[in-house]
Amino acid sequence: MLVVQKYGGTSVGNLERIENVANRVIKSRKIYKDMVIVVSAMSGRTNQLIDNANFYSSCPNKKEMDMLLSVGERETAALLAIALISKGYDAVSLSGKEAGLLTTDDYTNAKIISIDTDRIKNELEKGKIVVIAGFQGFAANGNTTTLGRGGSDLSAVAFAGALGADLCEIYTDVDGVYTTDPRIEPKARKLDKISYEEMLELASLGAKVLQNRSVELAKKLNVKLVTRSSFNENEGTIITSEEKMEQALVSGIALDKNQARITLRQVEDKPGIAASIFTTLAKKDINVDMIIQNAGYDGTTNIGFTVPQSELNNAECAMRELLGNNAIITTDSEIVKVSVVGVGMKTHSGVASAAFEALAKEGINIEMISTSEIKISMVVSSKYAELAVRTLHKVYNLDK
Ligand code: ADP
Ligand code: ASP
Ligand code: MG
Repeated sequence: MLVVQKYGGTSVGNLERIENVANRVIKSRKIYKDMVIVVSAMSGRTNQLIDNANFYSSCPNKKEMDMLLSVGERETAALLAIALISKGYDAVSLSGKEAGLLTTDDYTNAKIISIDTDRIKNELEKGKIVVIAGFQGFAANGNTTTLGRGGSDLSAVAFAGALGADLCEIYTDVDGVYTTDPRIEPKARKLDKISYEEMLELASLGAKVLQNRSVELAKKLNVKLVTRSSFNENEGTIITSEEKMEQALVSGIALDKNQARITLRQVEDKPGIAASIFTTLAKKDINVDMIIQNAGYDGTTNIGFTVPQSELNNAECAMRELLGNNAIITTDSEIVKVSVVGVGMKTHSGVASAAFEALAKEGINIEMISTSEIKISMVVSSKYAELAVRTLHKVYNLDK
């Protein structure tokens, strides 16, 4: 049996915790013949490395950023291998490049192209525990690349898929996937199972327990994925296909605090305006999420949309360039997006109205709404973030 285990930042947050991971790996070794361990940087390390670069520049060279950021995961991988070897186990650490993970050259946000598993298989055949630095690979030109924040989850799933692993375990600092972030709602309940679809929505909508691209890839490659805690022996959450699920109406509530809104007032109400606005943003690689256009009046209309907070400046500048200096543009970063996710919504009505009513009762104004087959997202003022999460958690009886 081959298992891929990934240990996140908090789980390897200091030297004692890395030793704890080494002991857990040794214990698992009694069950699995072949073990591939993917590690994150120690918690805070990646941010620290980014801060260091920002000492010199607010937009540091991206190729060099990847050279820098890859260091955090390499450090953990080497330390874990050293700990394992010192305990009498044969282990070897590999960088993303040594492990054969080929990517595009989109530095700091590279996409995986393929994995050449020869080196890993070779080491496994020699009986070694293979420890791989997550979050990184290399481009065709040989340069080191990284996969975007939270990318070690993606590395783990990609290696599990490429190696045909029997199981991919994601070890983190909570017992699994909960009905909402247990740090916001202590009554949140751990889910035994969740579908790839729902997990993908939750992850994309802000639940960082799994990185969204990792869930997408797990679904595509049919990787058997489990999240669990590295601090206890509790059963975790299995992420599985929808057919294997009992269809709960709502399975979780997600909160995304990294949102900002731009409103363009009194823009000319004529064909092609929306196209020019959103094409301009797309060309700058700015991810637009929710969009609201009001009914026109007097030949003008208001258009509001949300972007990631980190893109707010860029987006505002782009709009000034497009619409001219006299355009009325307002921005608001004091907003959050709360979302209700559940495959059961496909076949039930009334889920959305229950959310609207519950928030209204708490006096929370809903500023924007968007829906899909299995989710409802609402933008509210950030001062209501936690209250909105708890209110929605309660209205769907998720604590029961
Ligand atoms: P790691 O460093 O192990 O990758 P992360 O910090 O990326 O861990 O993700 C784990 C965190 O995700 C938890 O500490 C928790 O606060 C947060 N989280 C948000 N939503 C959920 C949820 N629905 N279930 C569990 N954890 C969640
Ligand atoms: N260390 C990287 C980050 O902090 C990747 C990861 O932990 O998954 O984003
Ligand atoms: Mg993570």
